[in-house]
Amino acid sequence: MQRNPGEGEFHQAVREVLESLGPVVTKHPRYLDDALIERLCEPERQIIFRVPWVDDQGQVRINRGFRVQFNSALGPYKGGTRFHPSVNIGIVKFLAFQQVFKNALTGMPIGGGKGGSDFEPKGRSDGEIMRFCQSFMTELWRHIGEYTDVPAGDVGVGQREIGYMFGQFKRLTNRYEAGVLTGKGLSYGGSLARSEATGYGAVYFAQRMLQKYGQGLEGMRISVSGTGNVALHAMRKAVELGATITACSDSSGYVYDPEGIDVDLIWDIKENRKDRVSAYAELRSGQARFVANDAGSIWDVPCDCALPCATQNELDLHNARRLVENGVVAIVEGANMPCTPDAVGIFRNAGTLFAPGKAANAGGVATSALEMQQNASRDRWSFEKTNQRLEAIMVDIHDRCDELAAEYGTPGNYALGANVGGFVRVAEAMQALGVA
Ligand code: NDP
Repeated sequence: MQRNPGEGEFHQAVREVLESLGPVVTKHPRYLDDALIERLCEPERQIIFRVPWVDDQGQVRINRGFRVQFNSALGPYKGGTRFHPSVNIGIVKFLAFQQVFKNALTGMPIGGGKGGSDFEPKGRSDGEIMRFCQSFMTELWRHIGEYTDVPAGDVGVGQREIGYMFGQFKRLTNRYEAGVLTGKGLSYGGSLARSEATGYGAVYFAQRMLQKYGQGLEGMRISVSGTGNVALHAMRKAVELGATITACSDSSGYVYDPEGIDVDLIWDIKENRKDRVSAYAELRSGQARFVANDAGSIWDVPCDCALPCATQNELDLHNARRLVENGVVAIVEGANMPCTPDAVGIFRNAGTLFAPGKAANAGGVATSALEMQQNASRDRWSFEKTNQRLEAIMVDIHDRCDELAAEYGTPGNYALGANVGGFVRVAEAMQALGVA
């Protein structure tokens, strides 16, 4: 903690993992050799750089860029890029640390990293976004590569931004190295089903987990926070599997529709009209209701299953109590660390099923690894094939977490299973590679 002052989210993420490793290091004390745990908590490399760019008024702006290359024992660093004003080194480190375990859980040969900038893309023109992405890549290119570090998108970074970054990488290196970035557009090496993967994957995980406890998504009322990439695809897949979306949100507030959110309509509002969720209530007046942030929380709405898909620490102790009082059955984290530790404690005590983001949202990075496979073999798979692989991977992750939770004495504790599963794979590789 003293070595990383002011990095609250990073401390939180590390503590959450270390607290669950007791049973595994007791059984296998060799994992404590050679300061393995200390090395695991220290990034291999952290890069912080200036990103100068020119806005539409001709004014020079400066942002800060980050890439944290956390652990490469299993393969090249792999993890997304976030553009949001809240980004700082502590946020990027927490995301990169979690990514190490998540990537290990997928069973694929990828290490963990994460990056981003405190740039605010909202309200910026297409030209400004392009110039920013080009400037960001003008520094980043020397640190990344198909065999070194493979960034992707995250909050504020979608196919458009990846395209501008890939274009700049190609100009700077004079190399068409398709596998250097994932989340690419289909016209230049992207994979079908990558956009859908995180949201769909979270729902596949939920389905498997519910099945194990004799339940199903059919007929369930689901609240989904956020209306970005993860949330929209999760809503679409959940509805396809027979659930009803009761409420969804953005950073201004939430919208509740007792008849069930019309996913096509909310999709159109967010993706095409680039409007706020309040527009949904206006279009469905008399039926749907918008509640602004200062007047309530999406987690006040009774539901059977909650999918927090927006941002870290968005669901706190108070929200967790409310959900439990209202009879929630399962919480599935689509976002990274959306539930605070207190909230997770409430779910555990109440016996609510809880799927941690490391496991439940791993479908995105797993499909990114499938994109890398397609790039390496100069191949393109069908949507169906990729989606089937995704579903099989999510089922595997679920089953592994479930088995490990039982093996280490707390059946049903998916958070413990995910941490142990990720840890053991990385620890084995680190030990084999010697002290480094
Ligand atoms: P997007 O930028 O596409 O969407 C984020 C959504 O969350 C937006 O609707 C945003 O609203 C909303 N939001 C942000 N802050 C809040 C808040 N405080 N309260 C309510 N809503 C809020 O991001 P993604 O969907 O890609 O990512 C969401 C989460 O999932 C992140 O934690 C990310 O790290 C994680 N994730 C994403 C993956 C991916 O493949 N994209 C992979 C694995 C994890 P507004 O538009 O108003 O800002």
